Amino acid sequence: MSFKRWLVAALLVAVAWADPEPVDPVTYRQVERNGGTDIYIFNRLGCDMTVTIEFTENQNVRGTPPIPCSKTVPGHQEVFMTRVTSIDPRQAWKFRYSYFWNYGSLEAHHDDSVVYSLPYASGSSMSIIQGFHGQFSHTGDDEYALDFSFASGTPVLAAREGVVVSVEERYSQGGATPYFRTRVNAVRIRHSDGTIGEYDHFRLNGVEVEEGQTVRRGDLIGYSGSTGFSSGPHLHFCVYSTYDGHRRHSYPIRFQVAGSPAPVELQQGGRYAAP
Ligand SMILES: [Zn+2]
Repeated sequence: MSFKRWLVAALLVAVAWADPEPVDPVTYRQVERNGGTDIYIFNRLGCDMTVTIEFTENQNVRGTPPIPCSKTVPGHQEVFMTRVTSIDPRQAWKFRYSYFWNYGSLEAHHDDSVVYSLPYASGSSMSIIQGFHGQFSHTGDDEYALDFSFASGTPVLAAREGVVVSVEERYSQGGATPYFRTRVNAVRIRHSDGTIGEYDHFRLNGVEVEEGQTVRRGDLIGYSGSTGFSSGPHLHFCVYSTYDGHRRHSYPIRFQVAGSPAPVELQQGGRYAAP
């Protein structure tokens, strides 16, 4: 390998090292009290987070309320989740647990009368490269997600008004391997019905809004890229609410498109112009 090639390889490694590790939006705290353990969850973000606590190991113990237990933790607050005590104090007991989180409140329900705006400039067109139930990755929680054919660096506009509840823009890379699932530049916007609109794969430092900011539909929120779980530049957009800390419920939303008076459900392979 020539020196120049070696230098390029060294620079690529340096870029990889520059990408930060994901930071959990919630943390736990436990208090030993009167022979039991109280478990609390703190939410460091400004938006509601829904958290589920589960035993990974349990012998002669119970939770009050029972485990698994799910609660919505308001932004910047700590919530008591559950208390673990022995069932028979004369017998040996032990436990371990894990916690899982999702963005948004258990109380959110999508207003199906809402018609969304295409997330790109008026007059431009994009294709749907993966639609609802797309086989590559639009299954399970993401069954009603849409992938738009954004070239890298294209302005991404808000599809619906709301409040920005989380922003990530520190990642530089992407790929179609599980490693990248939690390493995506993303914007999440909470709508008035409590649902979350998630926009994924922005380029490094490509987000133009801040947490807590109110946005109108059509406002610029950032520039597209291919960070996170992605095989090429595009915009992934999904509207969801949460069942618990594990599972989300995504919604089959409709859009206003040029040339159609009625709202449209976008189809994979279709190409749509923004009015
Ligand atoms: Zn997608």
